[in-house]
Amino acid sequence: MTIRIHSTASRGKVDFEPLEPGRVLFYNCGPTVYDHFHIGNARNFVVMDVIRRHLRHRGFDVRFVQNITDIDDKIINRAREEGKTPQEIAQTYTEYYFNRSGLLGVEPADVHPRATEHIPQIIGLVERLIERDLAYSTPSGDVYFRVREFKPYGELSGRNIDDLREGARVDPSEEKEDPLDFALWKASKPGEPQWDSPWGPGRPGWHIECTAMIHTHLGETIDIHAGGSDLIFPHHENERAQSMGATGQEYVRHWIHNGFLNIEGEKMSKSLGNFRTIEDVLAEFSPLTVRFFLLSAHYRNPLDFSRENLAAAATALRRLTDCLTETANTLRLLGVEDGSPEAEWIAKYDEAMDDDFNSQRAIGVIFELVADVNERRAKRDPDDSDRASLANGLATLRTLCDLLGLDPALDQRGDSSGVNPELAAFAEEIGATPSEQTEEAILQSLIERRAAARKERDFATADAVRGRLGEMGYILQDTAHGTTWKRG
Ligand SMILES: [Zn+2]
Repeated sequence: MTIRIHSTASRGKVDFEPLEPGRVLFYNCGPTVYDHFHIGNARNFVVMDVIRRHLRHRGFDVRFVQNITDIDDKIINRAREEGKTPQEIAQTYTEYYFNRSGLLGVEPADVHPRATEHIPQIIGLVERLIERDLAYSTPSGDVYFRVREFKPYGELSGRNIDDLREGARVDPSEEKEDPLDFALWKASKPGEPQWDSPWGPGRPGWHIECTAMIHTHLGETIDIHAGGSDLIFPHHENERAQSMGATGQEYVRHWIHNGFLNIEGEKMSKSLGNFRTIEDVLAEFSPLTVRFFLLSAHYRNPLDFSRENLAAAATALRRLTDCLTETANTLRLLGVEDGSPEAEWIAKYDEAMDDDFNSQRAIGVIFELVADVNERRAKRDPDDSDRASLANGLATLRTLCDLLGLDPALDQRGDSSGVNPELAAFAEEIGATPSEQTEEAILQSLIERRAAARKERDFATADAVRGRLGEMGYILQDTAHGTTWKRG
Protein backbone atom coordinates (compact mmCIF):
# COMPACT_ATOMS: atom_id res chain seq x y z
CA MET A 1 0.00 0.00 0.00
CA THR A 2 1.39 3.39 -1.00
CA ILE A 3 -0.33 6.68 -0.46
CA ARG A 4 0.47 9.33 -3.04
CA ILE A 5 0.39 12.95 -1.93
CA HIS A 6 0.62 16.12 -3.96
CA SER A 7 3.19 18.10 -2.02
CA THR A 8 3.23 21.84 -2.69
CA ALA A 9 7.03 21.97 -2.41
CA SER A 10 7.64 19.25 -5.01
CA ARG A 11 4.79 20.46 -7.24
CA GLY A 12 3.65 16.95 -8.03
CA LYS A 13 2.56 13.70 -6.44
CA VAL A 14 5.12 11.85 -4.35
CA ASP A 15 4.97 8.68 -2.27
CA PHE A 16 3.97 9.47 1.27
CA GLU A 17 6.87 8.51 3.53
CA PRO A 18 6.58 9.62 7.12
CA LEU A 19 9.71 10.28 9.15
CA GLU A 20 8.97 7.33 11.40
CA PRO A 21 7.23 4.38 9.67
CA GLY A 22 3.64 3.96 10.84
CA ARG A 23 3.42 7.35 12.52
CA VAL A 24 2.17 10.66 11.10
CA LEU A 25 2.91 14.07 12.61
CA PHE A 26 0.24 16.31 11.09
CA TYR A 27 -0.36 20.04 11.62
CA ASN A 28 -3.16 22.15 10.16
CA CYS A 29 -3.20 25.95 10.57
CA GLY A 30 -6.26 26.68 12.68
CA PRO A 31 -8.62 29.61 13.00
CA THR A 32 -7.88 33.14 14.15
CA VAL A 33 -10.71 33.49 16.63
CA TYR A 34 -12.29 36.91 16.04
CA ASP A 35 -15.44 36.20 14.03
CA HIS A 36 -17.71 33.53 12.54
CA PHE A 37 -15.72 31.36 10.17
CA HIS A 38 -16.65 31.29 6.51
CA ILE A 39 -17.44 28.45 4.16
CA GLY A 40 -13.90 28.53 2.74
CA ASN A 41 -12.46 27.92 6.24
CA ALA A 42 -15.03 25.15 6.68
CA ARG A 43 -13.66 23.47 3.55
CA ASN A 44 -10.18 23.34 5.10
CA PHE A 45 -11.46 21.92 8.40
CA VAL A 46 -13.56 19.24 6.68
CA VAL A 47 -11.02 18.08 4.05
CA MET A 48 -8.18 17.86 6.58
CA ASP A 49 -10.50 15.93 8.91
CA VAL A 50 -11.07 13.41 6.10
CA ILE A 51 -7.35 13.15 5.28
CA ARG A 52 -6.67 12.48 8.95
CA ARG A 53 -9.44 9.80 9.03
CA HIS A 54 -8.05 8.13 5.92
CA LEU A 55 -4.49 7.95 7.27
CA ARG A 56 -5.84 6.44 10.49
CA HIS A 57 -7.95 3.94 8.53
CA ARG A 58 -4.79 2.94 6.61
CA GLY A 59 -3.15 1.98 9.88
CA PHE A 60 -1.09 5.06 10.73
CA ASP A 61 -0.83 6.36 14.24
CA VAL A 62 -1.76 9.97 13.47
CA ARG A 63 -0.97 12.82 15.82
CA PHE A 64 -3.04 15.77 14.60
CA VAL A 65 -2.47 19.27 15.95
CA GLN A 66 -4.45 22.37 14.98
CA ASN A 67 -3.71 25.68 16.64
CA ILE A 68 -5.95 28.49 17.82
CA THR A 69 -4.55 31.94 16.98
CA ASP A 70 -5.83 33.86 19.98
CA ILE A 71 -3.70 37.00 19.68
CA ASP A 72 -3.82 39.05 16.48
CA ASP A 73 -4.60 42.55 15.16
CA LYS A 74 -8.05 41.35 14.07
CA ILE A 75 -8.87 40.17 17.60
CA ILE A 76 -7.60 43.43 19.12
CA ASN A 77 -9.66 45.52 16.66
CA ARG A 78 -12.79 43.47 17.25
CA ALA A 79 -12.37 43.84 21.01
CA ARG A 80 -12.09 47.61 20.60
CA GLU A 81 -15.24 47.75 18.45
CA GLU A 82 -17.24 45.76 20.98
CA GLY A 83 -15.80 47.27 24.16
CA LYS A 84 -14.49 43.88 25.28
CA THR A 85 -11.05 42.51 26.06
CA PRO A 86 -9.15 40.56 23.38
CA GLN A 87 -9.31 37.55 25.72
CA GLU A 88 -13.11 37.71 25.82
CA ILE A 89 -13.32 37.89 22.02
CA ALA A 90 -10.88 34.98 21.66
CA GLN A 91 -12.80 32.90 24.19
CA THR A 92 -16.17 33.53 22.50
CA TYR A 93 -14.95 32.60 19.03
CA THR A 94 -12.90 29.63 20.24
CA GLU A 95 -16.08 28.13 21.68
CA TYR A 96 -17.88 29.08 18.49
CA TYR A 97 -15.23 27.29 16.42
CA PHE A 98 -15.59 24.04 18.38
CA ASN A 99 -19.36 24.18 18.26
CA ARG A 100 -19.72 24.80 14.53
CA SER A 101 -16.91 22.54 13.35
CA GLY A 102 -18.47 19.84 15.55
CA LEU A 103 -21.83 20.33 13.78
CA LEU A 104 -20.01 19.64 10.49
CA GLY A 105 -18.62 16.39 11.89
CA VAL A 106 -15.03 17.64 12.29
CA GLU A 107 -13.32 15.68 15.06
CA PRO A 108 -11.34 17.73 17.58
CA ALA A 109 -7.57 17.55 17.06
CA ASP A 110 -5.35 15.65 19.49
CA VAL A 111 -4.08 19.04 20.67
CA HIS A 112 -5.45 22.53 20.05
CA PRO A 113 -2.57 24.71 21.27
CA ARG A 114 -3.22 28.42 21.83
CA ALA A 115 -0.62 30.99 20.79
CA THR A 116 -0.85 32.89 24.10
CA GLU A 117 0.08 29.72 26.01
CA HIS A 118 3.39 29.41 24.10
CA ILE A 119 5.04 32.78 24.70
CA PRO A 120 8.21 31.30 26.33
CA GLN A 121 8.66 28.87 23.40
CA ILE A 122 8.12 31.72 20.92
CA ILE A 123 10.70 33.92 22.69
CA GLY A 124 13.15 30.99 22.78
CA LEU A 125 12.79 30.46 19.03
CA VAL A 126 13.31 34.16 18.28
CA GLU A 127 16.48 34.11 20.45
CA ARG A 128 17.80 31.13 18.49
CA LEU A 129 17.29 33.02 15.23
CA ILE A 130 19.07 36.11 16.61
CA GLU A 131 22.03 33.94 17.71
CA ARG A 132 22.28 32.61 14.17
CA ASP A 133 22.20 36.15 12.71
CA LEU A 134 18.92 35.33 11.00
CA ALA A 135 17.03 37.91 13.02
CA TYR A 136 17.62 41.33 14.55
CA SER A 137 15.89 43.60 17.00
CA THR A 138 15.23 47.29 16.38
CA PRO A 139 15.47 50.29 18.73
CA SER A 140 11.68 50.35 19.13
CA GLY A 141 11.60 46.72 20.29
CA ASP A 142 10.48 44.87 17.15
CA VAL A 143 12.31 41.77 15.95
CA TYR A 144 12.54 40.92 12.24
CA PHE A 145 13.63 37.86 10.28
CA ARG A 146 16.53 38.63 7.93
CA VAL A 147 15.18 37.11 4.71
CA ARG A 148 18.29 37.62 2.53
CA GLU A 149 20.35 35.47 4.93
CA PHE A 150 18.06 32.47 4.36
CA LYS A 151 19.03 31.23 0.91
CA PRO A 152 16.14 28.82 0.22
CA TYR A 153 13.57 31.61 0.76
CA GLY A 154 10.85 31.43 -1.90
CA GLU A 155 11.30 27.72 -2.70
CA LEU A 156 7.98 26.61 -1.24
CA SER A 157 5.83 29.20 -2.99
CA GLY A 158 8.00 29.31 -6.12
CA ARG A 159 8.76 33.02 -5.78
CA ASN A 160 11.83 34.90 -6.72
CA ILE A 161 13.42 37.12 -4.08
CA ASP A 162 14.24 39.94 -6.52
CA ASP A 163 10.67 40.06 -7.85
CA LEU A 164 9.36 40.09 -4.30
CA ARG A 165 11.71 42.91 -3.31
CA GLU A 166 10.57 45.03 -6.24
CA GLY A 167 6.93 44.69 -5.22
CA ALA A 168 7.50 45.18 -1.49
CA ARG A 169 6.10 48.25 0.26
CA VAL A 170 7.72 49.52 3.41
CA ASP A 171 5.95 51.45 6.10
CA PRO A 172 8.34 54.28 7.10
CA SER A 173 7.67 53.50 10.78
CA GLU A 174 9.21 50.04 10.36
CA GLU A 175 12.94 49.87 11.03
CA LYS A 176 13.66 47.05 8.58
CA GLU A 177 17.04 46.33 7.00
CA ASP A 178 15.28 44.99 3.92
CA PRO A 179 11.68 45.42 2.73
CA LEU A 180 11.26 41.61 2.65
CA ASP A 181 12.04 41.12 6.33
CA PHE A 182 9.03 40.04 8.38
CA ALA A 183 8.15 40.52 12.04
CA LEU A 184 8.86 37.80 14.59
CA TRP A 185 8.03 39.98 17.60
CA LYS A 186 6.16 43.28 17.72
CA ALA A 187 6.61 45.94 20.36
CA SER A 188 3.15 46.54 21.83
CA LYS A 189 1.31 49.80 21.52
CA PRO A 190 -0.33 51.26 24.65
CA GLY A 191 -3.46 49.38 25.69
CA GLU A 192 -2.60 46.24 23.67
CA PRO A 193 -1.97 42.82 25.20
CA GLN A 194 1.73 42.44 25.96
CA TRP A 195 4.28 40.05 27.37
CA ASP A 196 7.76 40.77 28.72
CA SER A 197 10.61 39.82 26.44
CA PRO A 198 14.36 40.49 26.08
CA TRP A 199 13.34 43.24 23.58
CA GLY A 200 10.81 44.92 25.82
CA PRO A 201 7.05 44.39 26.21
CA GLY A 202 5.44 43.06 23.06
CA ARG A 203 3.59 40.24 21.36
CA PRO A 204 4.47 37.56 18.80
CA GLY A 205 4.08 37.86 15.04
CA TRP A 206 1.64 35.41 13.46
CA HIS A 207 4.12 33.20 11.57
CA ILE A 208 6.34 32.42 14.55
CA GLU A 209 3.37 31.17 16.61
CA CYS A 210 2.73 28.20 14.33
CA THR A 211 6.40 27.24 14.17
CA ALA A 212 6.80 27.40 17.96
CA MET A 213 3.64 25.31 18.51
CA ILE A 214 4.75 22.74 15.92
CA HIS A 215 8.17 22.38 17.59
CA THR A 216 6.48 22.05 21.00
CA HIS A 217 3.76 19.55 20.12
CA LEU A 218 5.13 17.62 17.14
CA GLY A 219 8.86 18.23 16.83
CA GLU A 220 11.27 20.11 14.57
CA THR A 221 10.52 17.96 11.50
CA ILE A 222 6.94 16.94 10.78
CA ASP A 223 5.29 14.80 8.11
CA ILE A 224 2.36 16.94 6.96
CA HIS A 225 1.72 20.64 7.26
CA ALA A 226 -1.64 21.70 5.87
CA GLY A 227 -3.64 24.85 5.27
CA GLY A 228 -5.63 26.73 2.66
CA SER A 229 -3.71 27.74 -0.48
CA ASP A 230 -3.92 31.39 0.58
CA LEU A 231 -1.45 30.48 3.36
CA ILE A 232 1.38 29.30 1.06
CA PHE A 233 2.74 32.83 0.82
CA PRO A 234 3.77 34.48 3.00
CA HIS A 235 2.65 32.43 6.03
CA HIS A 236 4.08 29.02 5.20
CA GLU A 237 7.09 30.38 3.33
CA ASN A 238 7.94 32.36 6.49
CA GLU A 239 7.26 29.43 8.82
CA ARG A 240 9.67 27.33 6.76
CA ALA A 241 12.35 30.02 6.86
CA GLN A 242 12.07 30.40 10.63
CA SER A 243 12.15 26.71 11.39
CA MET A 244 14.89 25.66 8.96
CA GLY A 245 16.84 28.77 9.91
CA ALA A 246 16.70 27.92 13.61
CA THR A 247 17.23 24.14 13.42
CA GLY A 248 19.18 23.58 10.21
CA GLN A 249 16.81 20.63 9.68
CA GLU A 250 14.02 19.84 7.24
CA TYR A 251 10.77 21.35 8.58
CA VAL A 252 7.95 19.65 6.67
CA ARG A 253 8.11 16.50 4.53
CA HIS A 254 4.77 17.07 2.77
CA TRP A 255 2.94 20.37 2.38
CA ILE A 256 -0.77 19.99 1.62
CA HIS A 257 -2.89 22.96 0.54
CA ASN A 258 -6.59 22.87 -0.24
CA GLY A 259 -8.02 24.91 -3.12
CA PHE A 260 -10.15 28.02 -2.94
CA LEU A 261 -13.87 28.05 -2.50
CA ASN A 262 -15.50 30.48 -4.92
CA ILE A 263 -18.91 32.01 -4.57
CA GLU A 264 -20.92 31.70 -7.79
CA GLY A 265 -17.72 31.76 -9.83
CA GLU A 266 -16.11 34.67 -8.01
CA LYS A 267 -13.47 34.78 -5.34
CA MET A 268 -15.01 35.27 -1.91
CA SER A 269 -14.08 38.66 -0.48
CA LYS A 270 -15.47 41.19 1.91
CA SER A 271 -15.17 43.92 -0.74
CA LEU A 272 -17.36 41.97 -3.20
CA GLY A 273 -19.91 41.50 -0.44
CA ASN A 274 -20.18 37.79 -1.26
CA PHE A 275 -18.80 36.53 2.04
CA ARG A 276 -20.68 33.44 3.29
CA THR A 277 -20.22 32.53 6.90
CA ILE A 278 -21.04 29.05 8.06
CA GLU A 279 -24.07 30.62 9.82
CA ASP A 280 -25.48 31.82 6.49
CA VAL A 281 -25.00 28.43 4.91
CA LEU A 282 -26.38 26.34 7.80
CA ALA A 283 -29.48 28.55 7.84
CA GLU A 284 -30.37 27.10 4.44
CA PHE A 285 -28.72 23.69 4.24
CA SER A 286 -28.24 20.84 6.68
CA PRO A 287 -24.80 20.13 8.20
CA LEU A 288 -24.55 16.78 6.40
CA THR A 289 -25.37 18.43 3.06
CA VAL A 290 -22.67 21.05 3.63
CA ARG A 291 -20.08 18.42 4.58
CA PHE A 292 -21.02 16.26 1.58
CA PHE A 293 -20.77 19.28 -0.73
CA LEU A 294 -17.33 20.24 0.62
CA LEU A 295 -16.06 16.72 -0.09
CA SER A 296 -17.63 16.46 -3.54
CA ALA A 297 -14.60 17.99 -5.31
CA HIS A 298 -10.97 16.96 -5.05
CA TYR A 299 -9.48 18.99 -2.22
CA ARG A 300 -6.92 20.79 -4.40
CA ASN A 301 -9.45 21.90 -7.03
CA PRO A 302 -11.47 25.07 -6.70
CA LEU A 303 -15.01 24.45 -5.49
CA ASP A 304 -17.88 26.66 -6.56
CA PHE A 305 -20.43 27.50 -3.91
CA SER A 306 -23.91 28.31 -5.22
CA ARG A 307 -27.45 27.54 -4.14
CA GLU A 308 -27.85 25.28 -7.18
CA ASN A 309 -24.70 23.30 -6.32
CA LEU A 310 -25.77 22.90 -2.70
CA ALA A 311 -29.27 21.85 -3.78
CA ALA A 312 -27.74 19.31 -6.18
CA ALA A 313 -25.59 17.98 -3.33
CA ALA A 314 -28.72 17.65 -1.16
CA THR A 315 -30.47 15.65 -3.89
CA ALA A 316 -27.51 13.32 -4.38
CA LEU A 317 -27.12 12.86 -0.65
CA ARG A 318 -30.79 11.87 -0.43
CA ARG A 319 -30.13 8.87 -2.68
CA LEU A 320 -27.49 7.76 -0.22
CA THR A 321 -29.49 8.33 2.99
CA ASP A 322 -32.62 6.74 1.43
CA CYS A 323 -30.58 3.66 0.54
CA LEU A 324 -29.25 3.45 4.11
CA THR A 325 -32.72 3.82 5.67
CA GLU A 326 -34.62 1.57 3.28
CA THR A 327 -32.01 -1.18 3.41
CA ALA A 328 -31.95 -1.12 7.21
CA ASN A 329 -35.76 -1.31 7.26
CA THR A 330 -35.86 -4.18 4.77
CA LEU A 331 -33.28 -6.13 6.75
CA ARG A 332 -35.34 -5.65 9.88
CA LEU A 333 -38.43 -7.03 8.15
CA LEU A 334 -36.40 -9.97 6.89
CA GLY A 335 -35.03 -10.53 10.38
CA VAL A 336 -31.43 -10.51 9.12
CA GLU A 337 -28.46 -10.01 11.43
CA ASP A 338 -25.82 -7.34 10.79
CA GLY A 339 -23.46 -8.07 7.93
CA SER A 340 -19.77 -7.39 7.53
CA PRO A 341 -18.04 -4.97 5.15
CA GLU A 342 -17.00 -6.30 1.75
CA ALA A 343 -13.26 -6.13 1.10
CA GLU A 344 -13.51 -5.48 -2.65
CA TRP A 345 -15.57 -2.30 -2.14
CA ILE A 346 -13.30 -1.07 0.63
CA ALA A 347 -10.34 -1.67 -1.71
CA LYS A 348 -11.98 0.42 -4.45
CA TYR A 349 -12.53 3.22 -1.98
CA ASP A 350 -8.94 2.99 -0.73
CA GLU A 351 -7.62 3.13 -4.28
CA ALA A 352 -9.40 6.47 -4.77
CA MET A 353 -8.32 7.92 -1.43
CA ASP A 354 -4.73 6.62 -1.60
CA ASP A 355 -4.38 8.68 -4.78
CA ASP A 356 -3.92 12.08 -3.14
CA PHE A 357 -7.09 11.77 -1.02
CA ASN A 358 -9.49 11.93 -3.97
CA SER A 359 -12.77 12.25 -2.07
CA GLN A 360 -14.60 13.04 -5.30
CA ARG A 361 -13.72 9.60 -6.68
CA ALA A 362 -14.36 8.00 -3.29
CA ILE A 363 -17.89 9.44 -3.32
CA GLY A 364 -18.26 8.01 -6.83
CA VAL A 365 -17.44 4.56 -5.40
CA ILE A 366 -20.07 5.07 -2.69
CA PHE A 367 -22.73 5.85 -5.30
CA GLU A 368 -21.77 2.79 -7.35
CA LEU A 369 -22.34 0.81 -4.18
CA VAL A 370 -25.69 2.56 -3.55
CA ALA A 371 -26.90 1.42 -7.00
CA ASP A 372 -25.63 -2.08 -6.28
CA VAL A 373 -27.31 -2.29 -2.87
CA ASN A 374 -30.58 -0.93 -4.31
CA GLU A 375 -30.49 -3.78 -6.84
CA ARG A 376 -29.80 -6.35 -4.14
CA ARG A 377 -32.74 -5.01 -2.15
CA ALA A 378 -35.13 -5.21 -5.11
CA LYS A 379 -34.56 -8.95 -5.47
CA ARG A 380 -37.79 -10.99 -5.19
CA ASP A 381 -37.90 -14.05 -2.94
CA PRO A 382 -34.41 -13.58 -1.49
CA ASP A 383 -32.67 -16.73 -0.32
CA ASP A 384 -30.18 -16.86 2.55
CA SER A 385 -27.25 -15.77 0.44
CA ASP A 386 -29.25 -12.81 -0.97
CA ARG A 387 -30.11 -11.74 2.56
CA ALA A 388 -26.51 -11.99 3.70
CA SER A 389 -25.39 -10.08 0.62
CA LEU A 390 -27.85 -7.26 1.40
CA ALA A 391 -26.66 -7.11 5.02
CA ASN A 392 -23.02 -7.00 3.89
CA GLY A 393 -23.84 -4.28 1.36
CA LEU A 394 -25.32 -2.13 4.10
CA ALA A 395 -22.37 -2.76 6.42
CA THR A 396 -19.98 -1.74 3.61
CA LEU A 397 -21.94 1.40 2.85
CA ARG A 398 -21.95 2.39 6.51
CA THR A 399 -18.19 1.81 6.77
CA LEU A 400 -17.44 3.98 3.73
CA CYS A 401 -19.75 6.77 4.94
CA ASP A 402 -18.03 6.65 8.29
CA LEU A 403 -14.58 7.04 6.69
CA LEU A 404 -15.75 10.31 5.13
CA GLY A 405 -17.58 11.31 8.30
CA LEU A 406 -20.90 11.30 6.39
CA ASP A 407 -22.95 10.44 9.43
CA PRO A 408 -26.75 10.88 9.03
CA ALA A 409 -26.83 11.70 12.76
CA LEU A 410 -25.20 15.07 11.94
CA ASP A 411 -28.60 16.23 10.74
CA GLN A 412 -30.42 14.99 13.82
CA ARG A 413 -28.71 17.13 16.39
CA GLY A 414 -30.46 20.37 17.17
CA ASP A 415 -32.86 18.98 19.72
CA SER A 416 -31.66 16.45 22.23
CA SER A 417 -33.57 13.41 20.99
CA GLY A 418 -33.42 14.12 17.27
CA VAL A 419 -37.10 13.09 17.02
CA ASN A 420 -39.61 15.16 15.09
CA PRO A 421 -41.98 16.37 17.88
CA GLU A 422 -44.99 16.20 15.54
CA LEU A 423 -44.24 12.53 14.88
CA ALA A 424 -43.94 11.75 18.59
CA ALA A 425 -47.23 13.58 19.34
CA PHE A 426 -49.11 11.73 16.60
CA ALA A 427 -47.80 8.36 17.77
CA GLU A 428 -48.99 9.06 21.27
CA GLU A 429 -52.39 10.29 20.07
CA ILE A 430 -53.00 7.08 18.13
CA GLY A 431 -51.70 4.79 20.87
CA ALA A 432 -48.47 3.70 19.18
CA THR A 433 -45.92 4.22 21.93
CA PRO A 434 -42.67 2.32 21.63
CA SER A 435 -40.43 1.83 24.65
CA GLU A 436 -37.62 3.68 22.87
CA GLN A 437 -38.23 7.25 21.70
CA THR A 438 -36.23 7.26 18.50
CA GLU A 439 -37.56 8.20 15.08
CA GLU A 440 -36.90 4.65 13.95
CA ALA A 441 -38.78 3.03 16.84
CA ILE A 442 -41.75 5.39 16.58
CA LEU A 443 -42.14 4.78 12.85
CA GLN A 444 -41.91 1.04 13.40
CA SER A 445 -44.56 1.25 16.08
CA LEU A 446 -46.85 3.27 13.78
CA ILE A 447 -46.35 0.71 11.00
CA GLU A 448 -47.44 -2.03 13.43
CA ARG A 449 -50.42 0.05 14.57
CA ARG A 450 -51.50 0.45 10.94
CA ALA A 451 -51.10 -3.29 10.24
CA ALA A 452 -53.23 -4.13 13.28
CA ALA A 453 -55.92 -1.64 12.20
CA ARG A 454 -56.07 -3.18 8.73
CA LYS A 455 -56.44 -6.64 10.22
CA GLU A 456 -59.44 -5.38 12.21
CA ARG A 457 -60.75 -3.78 9.01
CA ASP A 458 -60.41 -0.35 10.67
CA PHE A 459 -59.39 1.31 7.41
CA ALA A 460 -60.00 4.82 8.72
CA THR A 461 -57.19 4.43 11.25
CA ALA A 462 -54.92 2.66 8.76
CA ASP A 463 -55.43 5.47 6.21
CA ALA A 464 -54.94 8.12 8.90
CA VAL A 465 -51.52 6.67 9.75
CA ARG A 466 -50.39 6.68 6.13
CA GLY A 467 -51.92 10.14 5.51
CA ARG A 468 -50.43 11.88 8.54
CA LEU A 469 -47.01 10.32 7.96
CA GLY A 470 -47.18 11.53 4.35
CA GLU A 471 -47.85 15.08 5.57
CA MET A 472 -44.81 14.82 7.82
CA GLY A 473 -42.64 13.64 4.93
CA TYR A 474 -42.54 9.88 5.51
CA ILE A 475 -43.72 7.52 2.79
CA LEU A 476 -44.89 4.02 3.69
CA GLN A 477 -44.15 1.31 1.16
CA ASP A 478 -45.87 -2.05 1.21
CA THR A 479 -43.35 -4.55 -0.13
CA ALA A 480 -43.30 -8.32 -0.50
CA HIS A 481 -41.50 -8.50 2.85
CA GLY A 482 -43.83 -6.14 4.73
CA THR A 483 -44.12 -2.39 5.16
CA THR A 484 -41.09 -0.09 5.21
CA TRP A 485 -40.74 3.68 5.25
CA LYS A 486 -38.64 6.27 3.54
CA ARG A 487 -38.49 10.04 3.54
CA GLY A 488 -40.79 11.61 0.96
ZN1 LIG B 1 -0.09 28.69 10.68
